[in-house]
Amino acid sequence: MQETQPFFDIWQEVKTKLEMQLETNTYQEIFESVDSVFKVRNNYIYLIVDNEFIKKRIEMLYLQKMNRILSSYVDDRHEYKLITREQAETELKQDQDFDLTKTDNKESYDKLYLNTNLNPSYTFSNFVVGSSNRLAYTSAIKVADQPGVVANPLYIFGDVGLGKTHLMQCVGNYILEGDINTKVLYVKADQFVEDYVRHASKKKFNEFHNYYRDVDVLLVDDIQFLAKKDKSQEEFFKLFEQLHNQQKQIVITSDRKATDLKDIMSRLTSRFSWGVTVDINRPDLDHRIKILEKKLMAETSDTNLMPEKVIEYIASVFDNNVRELEGALKRVLFYCTAFDYDFTIKSAESALENLIKVKENHKDLIQDKIQNVLSVVADYYSISTSDLISKKRKRVYLYPRQIAMFLIKTLYEIPYKRIGSYFSGRDHSTVMHSVEKINNDMQVDRNIKIDVEKLKQKCGQN
Ligand code: ADP
Ligand code: MG
Repeated sequence: MQETQPFFDIWQEVKTKLEMQLETNTYQEIFESVDSVFKVRNNYIYLIVDNEFIKKRIEMLYLQKMNRILSSYVDDRHEYKLITREQAETELKQDQDFDLTKTDNKESYDKLYLNTNLNPSYTFSNFVVGSSNRLAYTSAIKVADQPGVVANPLYIFGDVGLGKTHLMQCVGNYILEGDINTKVLYVKADQFVEDYVRHASKKKFNEFHNYYRDVDVLLVDDIQFLAKKDKSQEEFFKLFEQLHNQQKQIVITSDRKATDLKDIMSRLTSRFSWGVTVDINRPDLDHRIKILEKKLMAETSDTNLMPEKVIEYIASVFDNNVRELEGALKRVLFYCTAFDYDFTIKSAESALENLIKVKENHKDLIQDKIQNVLSVVADYYSISTSDLISKKRKRVYLYPRQIAMFLIKTLYEIPYKRIGSYFSGRDHSTVMHSVEKINNDMQVDRNIKIDVEKLKQKCGQN
């Protein structure tokens, strides 16, 4: 359990803001007497209120506002929850019956207060479902309903900003809501690596093992970050085996299919397909509009605040991922509220001007660079650019094509799928294999290495 004092201080600040924003009567009636933080657990900050009536009233009318103000003081994982004085007293009494010197109690005490790392605001109810994520969503619901039984592990993959983390955490929050005693642990793969390294350097292997092996539900985000970390992979492999054998639910996310995780031992990645694999794709326009409407409802109580055509405008411009889409919406909201402008397409355009410019400049710039790589490579191997990007399978084209894909990836870090689109719509895995092939060939064939170096120079890089 976290210390409450800092949260008490923040609550005083939040109260001041509320006092400024609310009518004096309302403030005095409802908030003035709210003056203690009962506890902070699982990122929930529990405030004590006098009675059930005030609790309901705050929950219905003011909780969102409070959380919004709160988010400017702490990271957005924290949220307020309310507890009546009576409930708080009952809980305290129960805790006093708890003798921490007895190991049994110590264990259940730890269990109760295990830090899950979950963000409570990621819930199924605010995850907007469409064709691009329906299968992932239904699988996640099933897993949350029957952990360890229907799909173990659940492996979710897809590009950045499409809701993998959100969906994975829904599972954890849902399970926790059903039974607060379940030990749910969310960890990013790179944190797992760091954690392992830290414990290993102090030879505290037992502590490390005990921490992870004790969980009931393990959520590992962005597993691709285990790449090349052999020792951590070994540890994770053992952990996976152990939890899986005990039918503890494991959920994994990744930016690619398990079979495409090249620098992770296949002993481990092959196990990822033991359960169910689902992918999340980009949402289409209608889906993006629905997402925006949902986010808007969460941000403001006035659902008619933003006209439909403005929402459509934002959704049509930001088609890449949900994070960007969300950012754009927030910007328009802020811009129009701060300057008291009407919500029109025109004001949305002004609000988003810079974001759109950056987006387009980036697109133009990248496009130019890719064209440049294509013509440099075509020229170098004396073939035409159109043959280079075609689907023709002759070796004279195949090899330069792989080289071109490799160069584009290593020079400009563009997603595989996008690179594929410049080569007659080849898919993600074809491009990835080409890049890897050249990478490997370079290690064994000096000539290829020299070719690549020369080409990089010609592309204006080295
Ligand atoms: P990823 O882990 O795939 O990179 P995140 O889960 O972090 O993506 O999602 C990025 C942002 O977009 C988050 O704020 C998340 O709440 C939001 N988001 C993504 N997909 C959805 C969805 N289907 N409905 C509502 N919000 C979504
Ligand atoms: Mg993520």
